[in-house]
Amino acid sequence: MDVTEPATAGRAAALAAPITRRRLLAAGAGAALALGDARRAGARPLWDDDEMAQYAALRRGGAGLAPAAPVSATPLSAALARSELEAPSFSDVARVEPWDALLFLAGRDPRHPGGSVDSIMGFSPANILETMDTVVMDSVQANRGNAAMGTLYALIAAQVLEALLAVYGDAPVLLALDAGHGGRQGVFFDPGSNGTEYLHTRRTGEAIEAAAAEPRYGAITVRRVFNDAIGDDFLLPPPEDRKGAAALTLRLTRAAMLAHEADAWNRAYPEAAVALHLLSVHYNAGSGGILVLHQGASVATDVLGRSVTYARAYVNAARPALNRSGLLPYQLALALGSGLSDDRLLYEPAFRLNRVNPYTGVDRTSFPRRYALLETSLLQRDYALGALIYHRLV
Ligand SMILES: [Zn+2]
Repeated sequence: MDVTEPATAGRAAALAAPITRRRLLAAGAGAALALGDARRAGARPLWDDDEMAQYAALRRGGAGLAPAAPVSATPLSAALARSELEAPSFSDVARVEPWDALLFLAGRDPRHPGGSVDSIMGFSPANILETMDTVVMDSVQANRGNAAMGTLYALIAAQVLEALLAVYGDAPVLLALDAGHGGRQGVFFDPGSNGTEYLHTRRTGEAIEAAAAEPRYGAITVRRVFNDAIGDDFLLPPPEDRKGAAALTLRLTRAAMLAHEADAWNRAYPEAAVALHLLSVHYNAGSGGILVLHQGASVATDVLGRSVTYARAYVNAARPALNRSGLLPYQLALALGSGLSDDRLLYEPAFRLNRVNPYTGVDRTSFPRRYALLETSLLQRDYALGALIYHRLV
């Protein structure tokens, strides 16, 4: 990689770090890099070598390595335990930093070789859950308090996992879990709707992780793809430095890394194949009901089928369960009439784009507006490619 581009000292140093690291890898030091195995006590973060720590510190203004994300327990798949196979060990990808993500997308990640910007497109079934409006969650909090909220989060979490069982049965499932919005304060932070959506998505994510430890959900392994301790920033200069896009790229890339690991496992053990499913937890604004977004026609037929099946299963079971709970101020309707919507954006984004991406030369107005976390946004792919070109990684 060429590092002759004039830059601030910070960025020049940041750009230089991976070169040193690659030399170390070439010298065999890569063998010492620990995998992010969540079950191993004292496990080290992915790629936690000195160079990356130095780079990470630069990215945080010298704050040093951020605390690792809470590591969820890894439920061993009952099916795998019965088969006496070694259970698959999926990385704690929540620890992946922006530079790690770019290396993966550039095909330069030794742990996940062969990556490219196309790796974040259509790699798994995916859904975005908009179970109800954030104001409804806030009203339950205000009127009924923490205990009712705990009940509500647990109810939603159980429905999230039940819908996975409806799609996959007893087969092992790797759930790439995104809690929408949030982010690292001081870098990029987005509270979501009503200023509280990010809180509800995080509490829901924690409830999903807790429920996944129950024997009924033993075939489901959860890995977070969000991490509020890591800043969403690829260090692009303004106006191209859209950190919201960086956040989505980073979460998508973490999920794509899981897809890479699942593929490797499935090639080795086809009789115990693991299915990856990406879920992004959100709450809505002004919908009056439940809504689940599913993928569109641009993904493979089997992927689309699972995404639509999941969406239907969740809406059909979660809505009556929530309406029966007695916790909500009104009965949830089916938003948009069906409770379902595909990957086309339902709103006009708040940001404005320059027409042409200066790094890829592409006219961005030509892209259909689609939800990034449904793995079908060409605009998102173009953003990621632009970041790679800017950093001279491709
Ligand atoms: Zn949201």
